[in-house]
Amino acid sequence: MTITVVGSLAYDAVTTPSGRRDRMLGGAATHFALAASMFDQVRVVGPVGGDFSEAHLSVLRTRGTLTDDVEVITEGKTFFWRGEYGWDLNSRETLDTQLGVFEHFEPRLSQAARECDVLFLANIQPALQASVLDQCVGPRWTALDSMNLWIDIARQDLIAVIERVDCLVLNDAELRQLTGKPSIVGAAREVLGMGPTAVIAKQGEYGAVLVTADGVFSVPAYPVDSVVDPTGAGDSFAGGLTGYLSSNVGMPVDHDLLATAMAYGTAAASFNVEEFGTERVERLTVEEVQTRVSELHRMTQFTNPTPEASRV
Ligand code: AMP
Repeated sequence: MTITVVGSLAYDAVTTPSGRRDRMLGGAATHFALAASMFDQVRVVGPVGGDFSEAHLSVLRTRGTLTDDVEVITEGKTFFWRGEYGWDLNSRETLDTQLGVFEHFEPRLSQAARECDVLFLANIQPALQASVLDQCVGPRWTALDSMNLWIDIARQDLIAVIERVDCLVLNDAELRQLTGKPSIVGAAREVLGMGPTAVIAKQGEYGAVLVTADGVFSVPAYPVDSVVDPTGAGDSFAGGLTGYLSSNVGMPVDHDLLATAMAYGTAAASFNVEEFGTERVERLTVEEVQTRVSELHRMTQFTNPTPEASRV
């Protein structure tokens, strides 16, 4: 099966308690593609500027990711984001966002990109996400990620595209911001009323929650000893999840399959945070991911007490 992803392709400047990088490869679509390509064929859609290096295009092509739909706009500048994390790595401050070539970008997808089986609308302007969705011809599964900036400045466009996808993947704080509901499950149920059949709330170091009509499922984050840079963890999570689904897309994408896919996303994200930017996921293997998925499975099992054994 094939996955098309649209989203930011970026240069990031990041400061965390472990150190800093002034200009590293980043972007939502980049982190997504690096994780998803462990499981299936990925095609990236989006523009980069003349400043985007050939070496970074090669990183995008890791594990066979196709970049024919990456448009190089020689006179423009690549999307740039600067962020800083304090000791609480769950929250960060955005210090600068420069859309660069994304400002006037009008995606025109190749036939192969349009005919994808799975479409992931990673974080970027909602109008661009909608344009890509318009051009795709009947993908079997579609999902969308976004962020507080777009909820603030393009809310109606964002809601219009959420209404058209199968799954919304969003940070818990952003889900609250979008719906005005304090409870994650309540907020997710409100989004289910808009059109999607699944909502996944990412909760950083606390894991992620899935809400569908069939119930609620929660997966903890994989416990890592050292978190160096959380940038892109949400996108690696989405990439691992979507890649796993795509490689199983013959099966119905129901609550149980999504729950298993979340374990793959969780494992991919846990590697992402152990080094800066894309450094760790570039050389990650499916076997390493599989090992952490198995450990997560063991970690989340507990004995179901029989009524007799229970003193409660
Ligand atoms: P995550 O940590 O998963 O939320 O993703 C971080 C990535 O998102 C970084 O590599 C940034 O380049 C990218 N990013 C930051 N702000 C935006 C934005 N407003 N739109 C699209 N991508 C963004």
